[in-house]
Amino acid sequence: MRCRYCNSLLENVVIDLDEQPSANRLLTENELQLIKGGKKEHNSPLITYICGTCSLVQLGDTTKAEELFTEDYVYYSSFSNYWVQHARELVEFAIENFRLSSSSNILEIGSNDGYLLQHFVAKKIPCIGIDPAGKAAEAAKAKGVETMVSFFDEVSSSKLIQERGTFDFINGINVFAHVPAIKTFIASLKNCLSENGVISLEFPHLAKLVEHSQFDTIYDEHFFYHSLVSLNKIFLQFDLKIFDLRELDTHGGSLRIFINHLDNTKYSIEKSVEKVLNTELSMKLDQVGGFNELKARSQQIRDDAVAYIKAQKKIGKKIAAFGAAAKGNVFLNYCGIGADSIDFVVDDTPAKQGKFLPGSHIPVVSATEIINKKPDIIVILPWNLSSEISKKLKSNEKWQGELATFIPKLNII
Ligand SMILES: [Zn+2]
Repeated sequence: MRCRYCNSLLENVVIDLDEQPSANRLLTENELQLIKGGKKEHNSPLITYICGTCSLVQLGDTTKAEELFTEDYVYYSSFSNYWVQHARELVEFAIENFRLSSSSNILEIGSNDGYLLQHFVAKKIPCIGIDPAGKAAEAAKAKGVETMVSFFDEVSSSKLIQERGTFDFINGINVFAHVPAIKTFIASLKNCLSENGVISLEFPHLAKLVEHSQFDTIYDEHFFYHSLVSLNKIFLQFDLKIFDLRELDTHGGSLRIFINHLDNTKYSIEKSVEKVLNTELSMKLDQVGGFNELKARSQQIRDDAVAYIKAQKKIGKKIAAFGAAAKGNVFLNYCGIGADSIDFVVDDTPAKQGKFLPGSHIPVVSATEIINKKPDIIVILPWNLSSEISKKLKSNEKWQGELATFIPKLNII
């Protein structure tokens, strides 16, 4: 395996999470029966490396993106009020700070259902989105958001420039870490950027992953785990510079970086950039040695979770879980916790109910099953939403039990 950016041989393992099925790929009843009948479930090794040359932290072997983000990719950003609000705040910030107006040209990569660009449409600022998911693009068009159905690459970016010219503001939220061809992606960004234009990219921050032992955020759709120290060098190689950033709470801790052309002096490099760079260097995020503690703590979390569940089962407790999302699947499969320990997982998304978690084969049900089956313990898998979820579960008068989270350490609520 070679580095997706600089082609150096990847030899330094950051963390090995064993063989895992695709983390977002829930199984149907039919598929589960085939597996029980002897069909092998598709697993691949989930190993993360750091490149010895460019320090880019990345997955080893992976499934191709085209297979992952197909038409039925179910995530619609506007389903979450939180994301619509998050988007509105960014749009307002960009309009004010980068002086965007009706004569500006805006592009969003991974524009989903238009959750962000709709705010530019409302301000009559010309914009276009690009997204490979056709159904999401249809939903965007219904909001008046023009959308090109495609991945963002050399061909589509040239077409965008041809049709619209270069762009004054280019935004990508949770898309940069998902694209395996990082070199092409950055080169295409550079080509699309107008002389005074600004690129804004948002992604989970490697420093937070390490600090809070968030090993379960590593899964087959996230090719990269970005640090500023690595990206700063990479963008400079394209004559681009990171001039400002924001540290955000999303996904357990994300970074939003602002980038412009290296020779553009309109924005000077803010102190925030140096601050995060220094923090990362003190954590040694540019060296394999910076990840030793993450490895040890992840194993400890696994041992604690397995011991707790085993002890509770032994005294006859019924255990359920909450949240049928990717990170929960990575966690359960890394720990080897399955349907023999956890009876069911509750999820509010109707499309997930009636299906089964990959690997662990735990059935996904609606919240009414908490009342019907009265589990003694509910394990909250999306730890980033644990305060919201625990508040909701604890306020349910018809259920009284224990809540447990395992990351960053075992916590019984
Ligand atoms: Zn490299």
